[in-house]
Amino acid sequence: MSCIFCKIASGEIKSSLVAENGDFVAFDDINPVAPCHVLVIPKRHMNSMSELSDLSGDALSSLFALIDTIAVEKGVKASGFRVVSNQGRDGGQEVEHLHFHVVGGRKMGKIG
Ligand code: AMP
Ligand code: ZN
Repeated sequence: MSCIFCKIASGEIKSSLVAENGDFVAFDDINPVAPCHVLVIPKRHMNSMSELSDLSGDALSSLFALIDTIAVEKGVKASGFRVVSNQGRDGGQEVEHLHFHVVGGRKMGKIG
């Protein structure tokens, strides 16, 4: 398995861990675009968001709970933040392991 995010999830490649739960792990983006730039990934490899529908409601709920924990830990819960998942070629996805960017700590421009 050559997927870099699978290697981060397994600990084979080191990352700056922010938080984790049973199904997801969150770590600092190596090339941050804002003071808070965390990536949240499923521990099990999936390419796309559509595969999230295979997960249980509890697992999906834990994803959003983890995002909330990240916002608290990074001090952006009150000021606000953005959650983005780039999907496929037109979405600008570079790493083909589903991930959510949690970005905050500065004012964001419009999406597009
Ligand atoms: P995307 O363009 O949505 O696929 O985003 C991929 C993100 O992964 C980029 O923001 C990269 O900076 C980030 N990234 C790539 N390799 C690593 C790594 N080893 N550790 C942390 N973040 C990474
Ligand atoms: Zn993977």
